Amino acid sequence: MIRGGLLLDARHRAFAAADILVADGRIAELGPPGLPVPENAKLVNATGKLIHPGLINAHTHGHGSLSKGMGDRWTLELLLTSSVFTYAGRTLEDRTLSTKLAAAEMAMKGCTACYDLNLELPAPTHEGTIAVAQAYADVGIRAVIAPAVADRSFFQAMPGLLEALPLELRSQVLNARFAEPQTALATLKTILVHWPFDNDKIRLALAPTIPMHCSDDFLTGCSKLADEFGLGVHSHVAESKVQALYACQLYGSTITAHLDRLGLIGPRFTVAHGVWLTPDDMKLLGNRGAAVAHNPGSNMRIGSGLADVRALLRHNVVVGIGTDGANCADHQNMYEAMRLASLVSKVQGKDTQEWLSTEEVLDLATRGSAKVLGWDNQIGQVAPGYSADLVFLDSEHINWLPLNDAVNQLVHSEDATAVHSVMVAGKMIVEDHRLLTLDIAKLAKEAERARARLESINTDNRQLFDNLATVVNRFCHGLAQKHYPVNRFGACY
Ligand SMILES: [Zn+2]
Repeated sequence: MIRGGLLLDARHRAFAAADILVADGRIAELGPPGLPVPENAKLVNATGKLIHPGLINAHTHGHGSLSKGMGDRWTLELLLTSSVFTYAGRTLEDRTLSTKLAAAEMAMKGCTACYDLNLELPAPTHEGTIAVAQAYADVGIRAVIAPAVADRSFFQAMPGLLEALPLELRSQVLNARFAEPQTALATLKTILVHWPFDNDKIRLALAPTIPMHCSDDFLTGCSKLADEFGLGVHSHVAESKVQALYACQLYGSTITAHLDRLGLIGPRFTVAHGVWLTPDDMKLLGNRGAAVAHNPGSNMRIGSGLADVRALLRHNVVVGIGTDGANCADHQNMYEAMRLASLVSKVQGKDTQEWLSTEEVLDLATRGSAKVLGWDNQIGQVAPGYSADLVFLDSEHINWLPLNDAVNQLVHSEDATAVHSVMVAGKMIVEDHRLLTLDIAKLAKEAERARARLESINTDNRQLFDNLATVVNRFCHGLAQKHYPVNRFGACY
């Protein structure tokens, strides 16, 4: 029984005194103070706490946390190129550690569930995928884990890029090989059949990471596997203008139209970013019941642009909010993601009535993201029957002095520093600003050891990146100057 707290009432833009009865990890009853306490119930004193539903991160990469802060003036294409040194030499322990860093940061910053497109090269392995899932289980937040797969690299996918490289660089980038598509799909199927985790807490999805990095046969294979097991499919679609342009060359249409021809777009499909979706793409996504994970922070950080969330909502597309990985967002703070989602909608030159309201943004980061994760009837709301995934904020924290408008301040003022406790399925995982499930001091030592080791073994790869970056930058910048030639039917002309 959670007693004495102030529960968010978004409709009235306030917090109201409420008691919350939790049974078997779910909210059994909500009511005014003085709700009868069943015998043997454990009491949680929430006096002085503002309670809101756990935030849900619709798009991240657990593997990104070990690369936090590495980049600055990087486009998406330079970020992809940076993988020659950011992921080289990583061990199974590094994968687990990176995911733990991401999960711990999310937990401590009021996020109780995420969609993680986790990369393992050259292809997902059984032990690697289980290790990532275990990292979330250890920290105690929910996760949909989508192993990121591809059967060709960025350099192989982009027409003309390989030829633009000097010969010696060309051979070096071709060293990075992906596993055969059938091997990757067979591994994923085996993992699915023997999945040892509770599917209500940690489950699998598929991430053909960037459609152009996957052959059509591979994409169709992913689609079939997803249908067989009822899995979500999540892919980076129309993230940058460069992608939208070279997809035209490859497909003669937009990426979305191409994926639809292959049968991938449906209610379990999520577009990550969608900055360069056309109105017809949006219409198609809306008609098919598909979703977009909106990552305003990384869209700005790597210069991709601003997604038009108002237009997506008008086309009935499901929208969730994400941080993206710490390799291109530098943090896992969902309050920051909400704040940015609100702010970027306000600088797009639209009428103020078209701007996203803070109420809408909060809804997208809770109920919207819950839908993206496929858990819309279980998380994202504080209501009877929903899981008890709750965040408790200090009401006397400076962020809340004074409390004028609960929703505006949750989206625009809160920055995670007022997060006092976090509960997932009725269990406290953060209390008194401390993560209870992992030893952060130990994590700090492991992170520094991994950082130092990876830095020392990647000196040459760092140099390779610097050499490649000059060519990639020139090539992509040149391409991005072109007009995006899509007609209203999604075909390129
Ligand atoms: Zn991403």
